[in-house]
Amino acid sequence: MKKNNKVRVRFAPSPTGYFHIGSVRTALFNYLYARKEKGIFVLRIEDTDTERSRSEYESDIIRSLKWLGLHWDEGVTEEGEEGDFSPYRQSERADIYKRYVHKLLEEGKAYYCFCDKEKLEESRTRQKEKGLPPRYNGDCSALSKEEREKLLKKKDDYVIRMRIPKEEEIEFEDMIRGKIKFETKEIGGDFVIARKDFSPLYNLACVVDDHEMQISHIIRGEDHLSNTPKQILIQEALGIEVPRYAHLPLILGPDKSKLSKRHAAVSAYEYREMGYLPEALLNFIVLLGWNPGDDREIYSLREMIEAFKLERCQKSGAIFNIDKLNFINGQYLKNKTDEEFADLCIPYLINSGLIEARFKEDQYPPAYGGMQAKTTYFIPERKEDISSQRIKEIVALYKEKVKILSEVSKEVDFFFKKELNYDKDLLFWKKMTTEEVIGSLDRSIEIISNLKKWEKPNIEKGLMKEAEKEGDRGRVLWPFRAAITGKKASAGPIDVAVVLGSKETLKRLKMAKNKLL
Ligand code: GLU
Repeated sequence: MKKNNKVRVRFAPSPTGYFHIGSVRTALFNYLYARKEKGIFVLRIEDTDTERSRSEYESDIIRSLKWLGLHWDEGVTEEGEEGDFSPYRQSERADIYKRYVHKLLEEGKAYYCFCDKEKLEESRTRQKEKGLPPRYNGDCSALSKEEREKLLKKKDDYVIRMRIPKEEEIEFEDMIRGKIKFETKEIGGDFVIARKDFSPLYNLACVVDDHEMQISHIIRGEDHLSNTPKQILIQEALGIEVPRYAHLPLILGPDKSKLSKRHAAVSAYEYREMGYLPEALLNFIVLLGWNPGDDREIYSLREMIEAFKLERCQKSGAIFNIDKLNFINGQYLKNKTDEEFADLCIPYLINSGLIEARFKEDQYPPAYGGMQAKTTYFIPERKEDISSQRIKEIVALYKEKVKILSEVSKEVDFFFKKELNYDKDLLFWKKMTTEEVIGSLDRSIEIISNLKKWEKPNIEKGLMKEAEKEGDRGRVLWPFRAAITGKKASAGPIDVAVVLGSKETLKRLKMAKNKLL
């Protein structure tokens, strides 16, 4: 723990790809730990790999964290940088790393290595052939000062390696996994910490930044476990404090191999596009590796903070189960008010082309200055306006049914169509003949036409009376439903009719009948 005992954690992504589920989990667990311990959550961008790092990936990290509501206290933001340890982008910290590389070289804890790539490759192949793990043979570790100076002048390319003890045990207490021991001989020999220009490789940059930024706890994925002994060796060589470590279990697909695109979408934003709510995604992700100790499954972010204990994280791999995510998302959608649900659905309805957003005449979007614009909606296929109230009534029919928002459009599309395009066979219930189906539709048309008031109890009364008469409800309700929705499955036919309105219901029943004539 740092001097003032303040918990300071960091999320340190490399912007070399889209922000993925594993990163969401690392960010979330760091966030929870910081909030639980009333500490500080830092966002550091590890962009030392200049070839693979891209600013669009950094933007994706920031927008994803914002979408998820994982607010950070220090680090890179959209507007600039926040905090006392600026810069928080590794690409802007070159001078700091140089200082540390110099120190290690001066103290003989690191050395220049002039070995050619080909030579190193050859030695690796030889070791492999002998069934040995690849390991740098230390050729340059004992060069004299003169030899070194000569080679520094002669060679175009070289690197800087850390000098590590030959046979030593490195031990640390992982907050999740308990005591962990590594032998220095497992590390692969003196490893590279910096390039010729003193620009650091990941392990050195990470150690320097964690130290300079006074990070107290390092919470990250198990894939970094093998870096930890190297980082501890650097910390020891520099004589700096070793932070506490916690390695989260790997996230696995259902087949127990590491989660990849083969199993599920991996980028956080794809989940947004599919219609997962940020709170549902976080709720699902917190259960990937953390065990609350009971069967409870639904946690708001606030509840997660209260209940979270790093020590309750599991060691074994966490299986990513999309059905569970869908279930959790469905639960969150169910708990929305109809208004909230409609607001969430509207972008998806727009994306699928069912509606368009318009601004009322003489009014402008807020961006055009002060005036509060009123959005209205338009159905391109029907060439008519639709109010948000009506959109709300339509989508509310599916609030309890859908698991993800992108499913809504294909459920409700029939409300927005001028004509339904379905095969007439859909109108047949069990063994009904054409005449019987026509008769059934006729009776529905009659009932609907004679209703005084378009209200659910009236429609229900009329149709159910007829259905009971038939003995088998399906003989009335199936052709009715098929006619007004054009679908095999939908929300309850009477609920659909209520929202569809008497005129459109009648029109669709008549169109269905015409299909059979
Ligand atoms: N930059 C590393 C990564 O994105 C994280 C390093 C760390 O947490 O120590 O995997």
